[in-house]
Amino acid sequence: MEVKSERTEYLFPKLIDEACKLKEKFGAGGRFLAGGTDLLLLLDQLNEKPKALIDINRIPELKTFTISDSLVTIGAAVTYNEILENNELCQQLPFLEKAIRSIGGVQVRNMATLVGNIANASPAGDSLPALYVLKAKVCTTDGTNQREIAIEDFILGVRKINLKPNELISHIKFKLPKPAFHGEFEKIGLRKAMAISLVSLALLISLDELKIDEIYIALGSVAPTVVNVGGLDAIIGKPLNQKTIAEIVAIAANNAKPIDDVRGSAEYRRMAITGMVKRSLNKFIDKN
Ligand SMILES: Cc1cc2nc3c(=O)[nH]c(=O)nc-3n(C[C@H](O)[C@H](O)[C@H](O)COP(=O)(O)OP(=O)(O)OC[C@H]3O[C@@H](n4cnc5c(N)ncnc54)[C@H](O)[C@@H]3O)c2cc1C
Repeated sequence: MEVKSERTEYLFPKLIDEACKLKEKFGAGGRFLAGGTDLLLLLDQLNEKPKALIDINRIPELKTFTISDSLVTIGAAVTYNEILENNELCQQLPFLEKAIRSIGGVQVRNMATLVGNIANASPAGDSLPALYVLKAKVCTTDGTNQREIAIEDFILGVRKINLKPNELISHIKFKLPKPAFHGEFEKIGLRKAMAISLVSLALLISLDELKIDEIYIALGSVAPTVVNVGGLDAIIGKPLNQKTIAEIVAIAANNAKPIDDVRGSAEYRRMAITGMVKRSLNKFIDKN
């Protein structure tokens, strides 16, 4: 008896509209491919082979990367290393640079994209906490209509995103924070490099006359999606000292409600959050 093997088509549209039409045509059987550093590993775990891989790298608009009037726009086919080559971005946002440099090795960063990290919607996506505190918007298109969605409303759960069947993510955008802001990024894993994060943290803070003016903290790898720490309004207007740091640490640890999994217990994660928040805020005090 002849066994028919299902082939996966490899397609490379040159227009956004064409890519969206292909996605609509293949439905759940069609997968966009950017760097492929998540997708190609995932293929082995899928019950069914995809009918089509739709490579988006030949669509010129998706390679757009601009900083204009403090607005940063990063296209879906822009790789991590292309972002790291931008001195302005790295100077203005060293904490985002640190987050990106922590992802994989040089070879992975040569292929992989920031948008792929978002679309993959893993709780351990290391760029995500930084994008949450920057209040990044995810911009989608079906070739005709565009949507702009706050990142926390776009990532709905583990590998669940707010994307329609005929849409792709075209780019992300966010405003550069004012110079008064200081950002930090930290992550810990079971080893120092090439490891899935156990906890990651991004923090943005600004002071006004030595009092806390604004503060945002996001935690990764502690829940199905990144946790935007709420309740920090309570410390606005207070001086940044060891007493307020203890208050912030308690708010972050209570907010996170960390998970137990194979990489670490909830208790370990809670202790890690405590240490990471404390260390990040003390670094800021040392700089002032
Ligand atoms: C050795 C190794 C080390 C790694 N280390 C880390 C690490 O330290 N931290 C970390 O966070 N990640 C890590 N990763 C995972 C991966 O590199 C990142 O998540 C990366 O950002 C994915 O980007 P990509 O362009 O390769 O995405 P792809 O693999 O091309 O795509 C990922 C998913 O997003 C979808 N997609 C891609 N682009 C779009 C679009 N424009 N619109 C809609 N859907 C889209 C794809 O269909 C797929 O489902 C590692 C991977 C490897 C292989």
